[in-house]
Amino acid sequence: MKAIVVREWGPPDVMTLEEVPMPWPGPGQVLVRVKAVGVNPVETYVRAGTYARKPNLPYTPGSDGAGIVETVGTGVTVVREGDRVYTHGTASGVYAEAALCDAAQVHPLPERLSFAQGAALGTPYGTAWRALFLKAQARAGETVLVHGASGGVGVAAVQLARAAGLRVIGTAGSEKGMQLVREQGAHEVLNHREPDYVSRIGPLTRGRGVDLVVEMLANVNLDRDLDLLALNGRVMVVGNRGRIEIDPRKIMSKDAAVLAMTMFNATAEEHRMIHAGLAPGLENGTLAPVVGRELPLAAAPQAHVAVLEPGAYGKIVLVP
Ligand code: NAP
Repeated sequence: MKAIVVREWGPPDVMTLEEVPMPWPGPGQVLVRVKAVGVNPVETYVRAGTYARKPNLPYTPGSDGAGIVETVGTGVTVVREGDRVYTHGTASGVYAEAALCDAAQVHPLPERLSFAQGAALGTPYGTAWRALFLKAQARAGETVLVHGASGGVGVAAVQLARAAGLRVIGTAGSEKGMQLVREQGAHEVLNHREPDYVSRIGPLTRGRGVDLVVEMLANVNLDRDLDLLALNGRVMVVGNRGRIEIDPRKIMSKDAAVLAMTMFNATAEEHRMIHAGLAPGLENGTLAPVVGRELPLAAAPQAHVAVLEPGAYGKIVLVP
């Protein structure tokens, strides 16, 4: 089968499409014929060799895919051959025509979702669900600022928060992105590239502030986020690409909290809760991933450039 292989850390073109042996599922494993692959920013940090967690070289990137179960190993009861599934995690890497997964890493993909949409689920929806509900304890009636709502995690956070009864303010950096965020159910949409957009958030909450910020770029926004919080507000750091100075007094004065998370810390039990929590929305259509761009698997290097460019519009997906 064909798979993207990384043999050294470096720029996007260290990813090459190669012929590799077809993996075979051991006990408790599943072989998925991959129809679509979700591209996440973290995969670019890992490939560059700058991320704290690194696989052994050579490796095939990717954890989020969607496809059809081709073979199940002994002891697997949760899925059968021929089932449509999405993956969140893998043993062999999903940037490939087929991927080996533990049974707990595959989840049913309802008929109403395309494979490309299925590939947009694992990390983005898993992260948004864990950030909102497990870590930040988001509650109906609260106001959430999804700071960076036009990308993979942001779209998921807007759909999930809206469905859970929160008031949603979302931001994007382009007109197209703002329109997308509005269509996903945000009550208010702002452009985080406009100089004075932050000053509009207070009035949108009648001066009370937001209960929760889901933050995609903490190194730019964290100190200003603290100004936006209501009493007992929380900032949930999901994305960060550098350092920032903050004034802790702003946290004190509001009995506020700065929380942060990485999906790599999610336990098996949390993974079970997250995907069980997503299932009803995927079945009834409240959760519908947005795929902005589809590229062939061989274009993984271009996808790694594009996913870091401004002007996000949902997910970038590779098609084997
Ligand atoms: P993505 O699809 O590339 O989206 C990036 C988002 O950040 C876009 O909405 C983008 O908006 C927005 N953004 C750009 N400049 C911003 C600014 N100044 N203020 C606020 N937002 C800004 O990436 P993603 O998959 O949604 O992931 C978002 C971030 O979370 C990434 O840094 C990623 O590495 C991280 N992440 C962390 C975890 C975790 O476990 N903690 C899991 C998944 C992702 P425009 O392009 O419209 O400007």
